[in-house]
Amino acid sequence: MRYSRYLIPTMKEDPSDAVVSSHRLMMRAGLVRKESAGMYVYLPLGHKALRKIINIVREEMDNSGALEFLMPELTNADLWKESGRWNTMGPEMFRIKDRNNLEYALGPTHEEAFTNAVRSTVTSYKELPINAYQINTKFRDEIRPRFGVIRSKEFIMKDAYSFDVDEEGLDKSYQTMRSVYRKIFDRCGLATIPVQADTGNMGGSASEEFMVASEVGEETLLICESCSYRANQEKAVFKREEKSGSITGELEKVHTPDVKTIDDLVKHFSAESSKFLKSILYTADGETVMAVVTGDREINEIKLKNHLGCVELELASDDKIFEATKSPVGFAGPVGIKNIRIVFDLSVKNTFDAITGANEKDYHYKGVNPGRDFEIKEEADLVTAVEGDACPECGKKLSATKGIEVGHIFKLGYKYTKAMNFTFLDKNGRPANPIMGCYGVGVTRTLAAVIEQNHDEKGLMWPKEIAPFDVHIVGICKTEEDEKKIAEIYEEIKKAGFDALYDDRKNSPGIKFADADLIGLPLRITVGKSFFDTGDIEALDRKTKEIKRLQRKELVPYLKEFFGR
Ligand SMILES: [Zn+2]
Repeated sequence: MRYSRYLIPTMKEDPSDAVVSSHRLMMRAGLVRKESAGMYVYLPLGHKALRKIINIVREEMDNSGALEFLMPELTNADLWKESGRWNTMGPEMFRIKDRNNLEYALGPTHEEAFTNAVRSTVTSYKELPINAYQINTKFRDEIRPRFGVIRSKEFIMKDAYSFDVDEEGLDKSYQTMRSVYRKIFDRCGLATIPVQADTGNMGGSASEEFMVASEVGEETLLICESCSYRANQEKAVFKREEKSGSITGELEKVHTPDVKTIDDLVKHFSAESSKFLKSILYTADGETVMAVVTGDREINEIKLKNHLGCVELELASDDKIFEATKSPVGFAGPVGIKNIRIVFDLSVKNTFDAITGANEKDYHYKGVNPGRDFEIKEEADLVTAVEGDACPECGKKLSATKGIEVGHIFKLGYKYTKAMNFTFLDKNGRPANPIMGCYGVGVTRTLAAVIEQNHDEKGLMWPKEIAPFDVHIVGICKTEEDEKKIAEIYEEIKKAGFDALYDDRKNSPGIKFADADLIGLPLRITVGKSFFDTGDIEALDRKTKEIKRLQRKELVPYLKEFFGR
């Protein structure tokens, strides 16, 4: 492609609204333009790179035996109502009505649509397993779109849904996708960190996220440098400290007017925050439940929800708190509470002479001891792990890092096939529900993540497999005669099977070199003064900055070696 016939509107200055490298460079190198908040136009160069990622995803999915579908992006409300998600998807789902007042959603995800498509075509165990996928646009009504294409209102995703006859089959499908994802991200030149993620009520190691470490990531990962433990903070567990101590005090009620928060308590009692037992009341599917954790820890509502196995979990209302504890908010504690379910965090049993609410306005207990003053009938891991906590596998310290999620694999179970009554006839001719897994790759997000990982102060540094072109030819000459000679080299490179961008513009060498650095194709070939003087062509590796001087006949063999083709 001749640069003069292509469209690459590079920018010298950083756009004012771009705070992350990928957004800044995608704008400056002419890959995208913003249409409006959270919506981007892919210009030819950006689209070409995106297509390469799509092709890699498609190739690897097809090789694994998955079947490509193309689903409507408009999804019928009836399907969402069947699964029960029409009311629970929240304001991030775009909902629209047609002229006949029928309701639809612009698909943010396609569990329902695929379950429906497969149930209408599969009737027997002989037709399973199936892994159905599509590469398509997804929509999300982001409250605050940001970071360019990383968090936008519409984006391209590959989403896949496996349907198996039993759990063993699901595990096989899941493991296949796990290795497919590694291949996809490797080929894109992206270093990902697979981390254990929250699995809802499924349990086990049934969910993994593929994360890219990045300062702009919105997820926190806890990583052990000594072993292979990696987990999303939502899910991460940690080894509890064995605390030794002994009961020294009697249970004593203390008057604590205007003392409500943990900070107030720490001041009032001049004790460490770990000495306090925080008791938080929730309504879980209508039932009032008390969760008790030590004062130095944040309660993890995802863990609590998974432990309780409830669908809806919210903080209890003031009325419910009064009903359960006979006191206003701020004075709840486990001592003397018999009428509601109480779940204790694993560290509570290791506290001695603790302080907690006395279930009476303006009073706390001190000298509280588990076992003596209240019974621990039910305990679970209820708190969020943080940097510095001990690794659950090896005991070394966990460190925290921010990450962007580019892929997610998940064992769904029977949730959708049961809710939507999808049955097949099993070996014995009896109806059974298939078991599902789902697997997503954020395609546009992968492009941004690759750029986050592969750039320097001058611009992009494309990994070879997804670079929009292989080589960038910079021609520098004064006469038409010389231009023809450069064009011959360009043709020769094309003929050898390499995709070349030939900068034939009448601009200064300085502008051409700056644009080549910014666009960042893997190899820059300069045909200029030294070629016309001595026959030397200069090849610059964009990533390593290594320069090779080649004679014309050495050029194609060098390209073959460089690209390994
Ligand atoms: Zn470890």
